[in-house]
Amino acid sequence: MTAEKNPVARELTRPVRVGDVTVGGDAPVSVQSMCTTDTADADATLSQIARLRAAGCEIVRVAVPNAAALDSFGRVCAESELPVVADIHFDHRLAIEACRRGASALRVNPGNIGSWERVDAVIDEAGAAGIPIRIGVNAGSLDPAFAERGDLTQVEKLVGSAASFVEHFRARGFLDVVLSAKAHGVVTTVEVNRALSRELPDVPLHVGVTEAGGARQGTVKNAAAVGALLMEGIGNTIRLSLTADPVEEVNVAWDLLSAVGLRRLRPEMVSCPTCGRCQWDLMGVAAEVERRLADVRAPISVAVMGCVVNGPGEARDADIGLAGGRGRAVLFAGGEPIRTVDEADAVDELFSEIDRRFS
Ligand code: SF4
Repeated sequence: MTAEKNPVARELTRPVRVGDVTVGGDAPVSVQSMCTTDTADADATLSQIARLRAAGCEIVRVAVPNAAALDSFGRVCAESELPVVADIHFDHRLAIEACRRGASALRVNPGNIGSWERVDAVIDEAGAAGIPIRIGVNAGSLDPAFAERGDLTQVEKLVGSAASFVEHFRARGFLDVVLSAKAHGVVTTVEVNRALSRELPDVPLHVGVTEAGGARQGTVKNAAAVGALLMEGIGNTIRLSLTADPVEEVNVAWDLLSAVGLRRLRPEMVSCPTCGRCQWDLMGVAAEVERRLADVRAPISVAVMGCVVNGPGEARDADIGLAGGRGRAVLFAGGEPIRTVDEADAVDELFSEIDRRFS
């Protein structure tokens, strides 16, 4: 395949197992998301997990905010085909129970659990269950020793809090941690994670921009921050928060991993912006090709170009492509024409060639 490869050497962290997925070590960067359903409604939650899995999600998180959610949590874990992370805030007893009911990992913010004794009770229960803990830190859950320090920047507070939480877990003999320090700003997210990977190089990092906004703004913010970090070899698992259907988070995460040359799950479309040389309805053709590529599993690059004069050459690194021209289109591969087809049949011809070569 002609996908770009990311040349950056990734720093190896301690590998941590979340169900059957390894986070860190030499494992590929994994994709995760979070259910938006009420966990107490196990059917709805399992159905959303199935949709997330079909989109390529590898780890799923569900909220466990109360006893009703806990009641169905065991069934969700038992029937989910993805490892399930229990997301717990404030009440350490819910975290302890989640360990006993089949969680593949916990996500807790030690800064909002209430006391070190309660945090320790959670650590010990996760240790007994043999599951890892993601330590979450954000502006609202800083270590109290850092929260009120007027002499520190927000980045320093987040990094200092995260490092002190990790140290506490280690002192208790618990090493299976994944760390996330999240902000809604791109610059803060990049600076915090750079500092964490420098100061705690052995701890796997869960990266993403939190509260990033709707699909358009959230995609841009996550691509800017997480893309920059991944290009530097930082980040072991990603969750790209969007105020949207969580399936869209997974789609964007895979597009980002593909764009930075780390992993490709699906085809990538290469299409030109068109210009005065464009000789066919490129936008209509590109929309149709993109729609039909959703059913193709091969991780190929497929070009759709506006003119036969420049298109095949400009997209010579695509695995296969179409370039249009006055009622006809050229089907090409590696920059060389395969055959000329009628414009009306061009998309069908492209997909039969994709079927023939790549399925
Ligand atoms: S492929 Fe042709 S139409 Fe598209 S941008 Fe290049 S020159 Fe313009």
